Amino acid sequence: PHVARLIAAGEVVSRPLDVVRELVENALDAGATRLEVEVEGGGLRLVRVRDNGSGIPAGSAGLAARRHATSKLAPDAASVDAVTTLGFRGEALWAAAQAGEVHLVTRPAAQVGACEVLACGDEVLVSRTSAPAGTTVSVRGLFAGLPARLRTQVPAVSEVREITALLGRYVLHHPGLYWRLSVDGEVRLTHAPGDHRGAVASVYGPLSANRVLTVMADGVRGVVSRPELTRARRDRMHFSVNGRPVLAPPELERAVIEGFAELLPAGAAPLCVLDLTVAPEDHNPNVHPAKQVVALADLPGVAARVRAAVAAALAAHPL
Ligand code: ADP
Ligand code: MG
Repeated sequence: PHVARLIAAGEVVSRPLDVVRELVENALDAGATRLEVEVEGGGLRLVRVRDNGSGIPAGSAGLAARRHATSKLAPDAASVDAVTTLGFRGEALWAAAQAGEVHLVTRPAAQVGACEVLACGDEVLVSRTSAPAGTTVSVRGLFAGLPARLRTQVPAVSEVREITALLGRYVLHHPGLYWRLSVDGEVRLTHAPGDHRGAVASVYGPLSANRVLTVMADGVRGVVSRPELTRARRDRMHFSVNGRPVLAPPELERAVIEGFAELLPAGAAPLCVLDLTVAPEDHNPNVHPAKQVVALADLPGVAARVRAAVAAALAAHPL
């Protein structure tokens, strides 16, 4: 049974990047407007996310690291199809505690005094402490007791590169929040609250930010690069669906390129950041443990909206 649990946990947390994503999504679900991420030793030594969100009330802090403990689904919920939060399985903190040591300090703004939770495996210790409002979760010594898992990890520099790219995607899709990423004590990425253009500046630099046009249509918000300044690289196309950065289905990438019509040189792919809003029942985030793949009930319809929104943005900015 212990092995089965480890396998289940390993589907949620198989590398430091997973911990970063899960902790950031918890902070976003908690309504945080400031998120500070720290990574040491490629994330194996430490991943820490500090937020100023809702915090966890003293009565349920100890539950947070228990399996299937989630505050995001009503006990009588018929399905997860209508969830609007990024989390809903109640497995991330539990899985992190199976893989390493979880240390959580949390305080709702209205509560006097904070809770400190130490979770390691199925051991959970709760004590009282004092702390600013919000939550700080630290995960230390990831896979230290799981040599087989440790052996399959990529080198720290590669993991840090992916963590930085992931944080960049969150910044691009949540430009209204304050973000900071530091790696081994050195600040790698900061973003002060702004708009999508500001986020492009924080992630890709001010030059790229000068090259984008605003897309603002029903359910499709963001920026695309000006066609004459577009280069042939596809790694700068970013989509979110209802606030969650997703691996875009090729249909959506194609829709953006089609929106440019003949304005784009053959083979070129624009930089784009597009936040899509779809009705909760029209999308299912539950197809993949990392929830990065979304199933859209009406993909052709969404693609058509994206194509039209991009075309309208270009038409509004005569070249
Ligand atoms: P899920 O996000 O699927 O509910 P998690 O294991 O990620 O499951 O978290 C368990 C619970 O702990 C959440 O439902 C939430 O109530 C609480 N929690 C975790 N992180 C935070 C945070 N940063 N701020 C507030 N509450 C949190
Ligand atoms: Mg979660």
